[in-house]
Amino acid sequence: MNAPATTIQERYAGAVMNTFGPPALALVRGAGAHVWDADGREYVDLLGGIAVNSLGHAHPALVEAVTTQLSTLGHVSNFFATEPQVALAEQLLGLLGWSDGRVFLSNSGAEANEAALKLTRRTGRTRLVAAEGSFHGRTMGALALTSKAAYREPFVPLPGEVTFVPYDDVAALEAAVDDTVAAVVLEPVQGEAGVVVPSPDYLAAAQRIARGSGALLWLDEVQTGIGRTGAWFAHHHLEGVEPDVVTLAKGLGGGMPVGATVARGPAGALLQPGNHGTTFGGNPVAAAAALAVLRTIEADDLLGAAVARGEQLAAVLRGQVGVVEVTGAGLMRGAELDGPYAAEVVAAGRSAGFILNATGPSRLRFVPPLVISAADLDALDAALPAILDAARAAVAHTNPETTR
Ligand SMILES: *Cc1c(COP(=O)(O)O)cnc(C)c1O
Repeated sequence: MNAPATTIQERYAGAVMNTFGPPALALVRGAGAHVWDADGREYVDLLGGIAVNSLGHAHPALVEAVTTQLSTLGHVSNFFATEPQVALAEQLLGLLGWSDGRVFLSNSGAEANEAALKLTRRTGRTRLVAAEGSFHGRTMGALALTSKAAYREPFVPLPGEVTFVPYDDVAALEAAVDDTVAAVVLEPVQGEAGVVVPSPDYLAAAQRIARGSGALLWLDEVQTGIGRTGAWFAHHHLEGVEPDVVTLAKGLGGGMPVGATVARGPAGALLQPGNHGTTFGGNPVAAAAALAVLRTIEADDLLGAAVARGEQLAAVLRGQVGVVEVTGAGLMRGAELDGPYAAEVVAAGRSAGFILNATGPSRLRFVPPLVISAADLDALDAALPAILDAARAAVAHTNPETTR
C-alpha cells in the first residue's frame, strides 16, 4: 500500500482549530476496548473517549439502535414529541427513583450544566457555591463553575456570583452557604482533577448544609454517572444522599452526544415554557443510543463488570513500582506517581499499544469501557512495569538534573 501524501494529522493541523494541541494519533476503527490507528496499529483503550464509550467501540446493540432509529425517524425538533425521547426521560427517572422528577435532554455535559445553571436562577437566588478542582465544562456558564484558572482567566468576565470552596471541606461549605445561595454544585468524585474521592460523609454534609439554607444540591454526574463507578450513579454508593438536580452526559450516549439535566420535586418545575431550549437535544437517534446503553448495562450486568474489572484495575495499579496512591471506584481510577512523569507514561504507553491519560504532571486517570476484559487488564499489568521504566528514562534523558 502506498503511504498517503499527507497524514490525517498534517491535514488536521491545516484545517482544525488548534484548541487541543496536536493529536497524538489518528484513529480509524474500534471494536470493544480496542482501537486501531491509521497505520493499522492496535491499542487497548484505557480512556474510553474520556469515560464516554461505556459499551466500548462499535457495540452491536448501539449500532443497531442508532441505525434502526435513523432509518425510521432521525430528527423532528422539540415542537414534537418522540417515543425514544420520552422513554429515555422515564428511564432516567426510574433509575434515580424520582417519581416526581423531570428531565431536560441536551447534547453534552456543558449543556446539561447550562440548563441546570439556568434552572437555579429560577429559584430567585443567584449565588452558587462550587468546589476548587471542579470541572463542569467549557461554555461560559459551565466555565463559571469550573475552578481552574488557566481555563477561566482568558474568558473573564464569566457569569458571576460563584464562590469556590476547598473540596471535601465541610467547614468551608458551612461558612460559604447562606440563604442567598441558589445551589451547591459538586462532582461526587472529581474526574478532571484526577479522580479525587471525598470522605464518605462529605456529600451528606453538603446536602444537610444546602437544605439548611434552602439551597439546591446539584450533583454533576457527567463523568461518574451511568455505571462508571459500579453503580448507576456515584451518589448511590452513599446512604441518604438525594440531590435535587443531577447532570449527566459522557457515558449516557455511549459515544452519541447526549446530555441530561434531571431535577426532582419543585426543582423539576423551575424551568417553564420559554425559559430554555435546544434544537438537537432529545433527538430520537441520540435518545435511542442512550436507551441501548441503559438496556445493555442492565442485560449484561455492566455494573457488576465495572466493580469486578475496577477491582482488578486497582490491584494492577497498586502493584506497580512508582505508583504511590490509587483512587476511585469501579472503572474510574486515578493513580498518583512518585514524580512528575505522567505525560511520559502516556507516550510510552502509546508506544506499547495502550491508550492512557494524564490529568496532571504526576497523575494518571483510567476510565476504560465498562466492557473491558480481564485479559486486557492482564495485558496492562504485564506491560506497565516497562512503560513506567521507559517514562522515567525519558524524563531522565530530557532532564538530566532531575533526581527522585
Ligand atoms: C466532561 C465533563 C463535563 C463537560 O462535558 P462536555 O460534554 O465536555 O461538555 C462536565 N462535568 C464533568 C464532571 C465532566 O467530567
